Amino acid sequence: MPGDKSLTSLKERVNAAIEARRGEAIWLCSEFIRRPTDNPPSDTRELVSFIADLLRKRDIPYQVHEIKEHNQNLVARLEGRRGGGRPRNLVLNGHLDQFPAGDLSRWTFDPYCGEVRDGKILGRGAGDMKGGAAALTFAFMLMRELSIPLEGDLTLMLVADEESGGKYGTKWLLDNREEVRGTAMLSGEDTGAHLIRVGEKGNYWTKITITADSGHGGLGRRDTPVTRMAEIVRALYSELAGMPGTTPEELRDIIAFSRRMLDDEFGQGTGTIVDHTSVNVGTIRGGVKTNIIPGDCEITVDVRLPLGVRTQDVAERLRALVERHSPGAKIEVLSAAEPNYTGPSAEILQLVKNNVAVVTQKEPCFWLTYTSTDARFFRPLGIPVGQVGPAVYNMGGPNEYIYADEYVDVVKIHADTIIDYVGRTA
Ligand SMILES: [Zn+2]
Repeated sequence: MPGDKSLTSLKERVNAAIEARRGEAIWLCSEFIRRPTDNPPSDTRELVSFIADLLRKRDIPYQVHEIKEHNQNLVARLEGRRGGGRPRNLVLNGHLDQFPAGDLSRWTFDPYCGEVRDGKILGRGAGDMKGGAAALTFAFMLMRELSIPLEGDLTLMLVADEESGGKYGTKWLLDNREEVRGTAMLSGEDTGAHLIRVGEKGNYWTKITITADSGHGGLGRRDTPVTRMAEIVRALYSELAGMPGTTPEELRDIIAFSRRMLDDEFGQGTGTIVDHTSVNVGTIRGGVKTNIIPGDCEITVDVRLPLGVRTQDVAERLRALVERHSPGAKIEVLSAAEPNYTGPSAEILQLVKNNVAVVTQKEPCFWLTYTSTDARFFRPLGIPVGQVGPAVYNMGGPNEYIYADEYVDVVKIHADTIIDYVGRTA
């Protein structure tokens, strides 16, 4: 029985094996980092063929799906015995692509070195999320290596394209491959080994464009695409940010905790974004020359939605606001996702929580994030998600790293959760 006490000895055996093979587990993470997968272009071929090789050596079947050129996704599977009832299938989801390393001169080490120094694993993607993806992969392969008996199926799903929307990765696979629509999903996205993510905000990304006739700058015309856009930018921050969400009763404490966490990390007041909308005008571009009246102006906007606010609510408000300042302006939707979460009483979350407590000896905490992950494609399909991975330092910036000890803890948490969910005792 999943979650059964009799599985405890199996978990102890696996944890001891992971402890004995720490070096090998860390080596796997380093090897992931040594194969650059910056997105764009999210070329995952080298890393996928490295993983495929490891799977072949262990006689584990897998498939590679390349939906967009060079964006390879890998799906591997260990079939369980499938006793009576609805067969369980635990999907392990991790993304292989990562933020670009950016300006290399700002790094104090090679972003693709994967070196272990002072207890840290160094490199671009260490936390987001090669650490988590390597932990899932190590735990997955260990089930085969140690011949752990499985009642349900275990599916490893390693994808490209997470950082640019998931259309050619997780989303495509969920739409087209039955085996990845599991009965639960476990993700290794960066959280911190005692922090378990239960949900995330929605998003609504748009491009707004204003066009008009241009002319000689010396004419001093005041009504131009640039002046109108300036008004729109102001209005976006004052009217679209700060819309309150509604808190489901079962998340009340989790939301309060998430607010405190953000206040502590980013400064007092930041925490309000957990249950309110936020706005970021990320880019602005307009005109061609200093002495010419601009004939166009364009911005891109990222609005994040708390639970209780729908993308449709934001779309309507945004349209009205833009129309008021610049009738006829063009609004193009770049990305839209509803806020989503898995109820904290879900079995997968409870199993992760118990294993976190045992492995880390810390108080496990549930929280909600302001970022988006591929988990947002699973939750609306009714697939509950547990998300736990090593904490990332300097994510997106230079000198990214994780702590090796925490990474090894995450390998154990993942392996133990697999055993609880699809393992069997004999
Ligand atoms: Zn990520």
